[in-house]
Amino acid sequence: MTSAAEQITQACPECGAGVEGDRRFTLWCAACEWNIDPAKPEPERGRVDRARRALARGYGEKLLGEVAQGDALAARRDTSAVLAYALALAVHAVTAVLLLAGVWCLVRGWGGVGMVAGAILLVMAVALRPRFARLPDDRPVLRRADAPELFALVDDVARSVGTRTVDAVVVGDEVNASVSTYGLRGRRRLTIGLPLWEILTPQERIALLGHELGHYGNGDTRHGLVVGTALQSLGQWHYSFAPIPNPAGMQILVNLLYVLPRLFVRGVLMLLDQLTLRAAQRAEYLADREAARAGSTEAAAGLMDRLLVADSAVTALQREANQASLRGHGAALRAERPEHLWDRLAAHMESVPGHEYERLRRVGARRGHSVDSTHPPTHLRRTCLLTGPPLPAAVPTDAARERRIAAELAAARTAVARRIMRDGYQG
Ligand SMILES: [Zn+2]
Ligand SMILES: [Zn+2]
Repeated sequence: MTSAAEQITQACPECGAGVEGDRRFTLWCAACEWNIDPAKPEPERGRVDRARRALARGYGEKLLGEVAQGDALAARRDTSAVLAYALALAVHAVTAVLLLAGVWCLVRGWGGVGMVAGAILLVMAVALRPRFARLPDDRPVLRRADAPELFALVDDVARSVGTRTVDAVVVGDEVNASVSTYGLRGRRRLTIGLPLWEILTPQERIALLGHELGHYGNGDTRHGLVVGTALQSLGQWHYSFAPIPNPAGMQILVNLLYVLPRLFVRGVLMLLDQLTLRAAQRAEYLADREAARAGSTEAAAGLMDRLLVADSAVTALQREANQASLRGHGAALRAERPEHLWDRLAAHMESVPGHEYERLRRVGARRGHSVDSTHPPTHLRRTCLLTGPPLPAAVPTDAARERRIAAELAAARTAVARRIMRDGYQG
């Protein structure tokens, strides 16, 4: 669908081979890979990051090797998973000790001293307690009664994956989807980023739901309650011990006192991260297999392709938001229906040329695990999916159901589009 005005042909400045492209995307040479990755990955920030990435790459290659040899890619409770669990419990134990010591000081009193010490300890315990996520109040949240057909689809996918269904669906604005638990009773919420949902085919959406629900029941410790809340608590501690900027007087002393606890917390955080890294990567491959089981191998591979060009959707939405702000928000929102944003996004994504997909696949192979070490690179996930016989869809689509789901999402589509046009888009 590339128009003639956007077509461009030139000789490669490196090797002279003919380069054909599209003005809207990076011009690069398929023969010598000139200009293949102009937006270089962020430089690694030090020895720790480098080590982490090397480790991630090692795990990733080993995992793919296992899959390629036809080994069953089963979730495992290995030594590192047990250690991670123990470490997470120790983190929570620190909070419990602070709480108990605070109560004890309050009870003993010691003529006022205990009261002060107890109050300080209790305040610390409260600040460091594990936090249970809540449902957001700034984005559309759908319950079963609001969207019965969408929930019925999620139920079907959950059944094919062999896990419990979700209690709430949050409609977000990210080119992504996720699952997480909320509340004390560990209820499940599914977040569907509309920019991703809108550029998928109905069958690819089922594969997406399969991947997300596949994170449950895969021994994915980071999504679990104990390790998940420990990671959050550690993040909170690390934040509490951050140095005061531009310190003066006493603040300099406080900053000095914070150095050791901060290093300690960072060390524990890194250790927990390392211990769960391998399980996290394995969980991604396993979740992809659930995606194929629910939506078919073909749809899961299609989903990978869409994820590969996710940045292109971010750019398109940023351009839309910028244009809306140039026209003036009020005028833009009165003059047109904001939900048409999704049709324009889908048309743009449909027009992404094959050479851009190929470029991003090669960039992924070059960068390896450098982008995000918990998610294996998309091209490896795709390779892994296509190893072995293709699976049919356990949850087929049907046009009537798709129409009903679209109607249930209509209000959220308008609300999310309006917010992107009004507030801009970070991606
Ligand atoms: Zn070249
Ligand atoms: Zn995932």
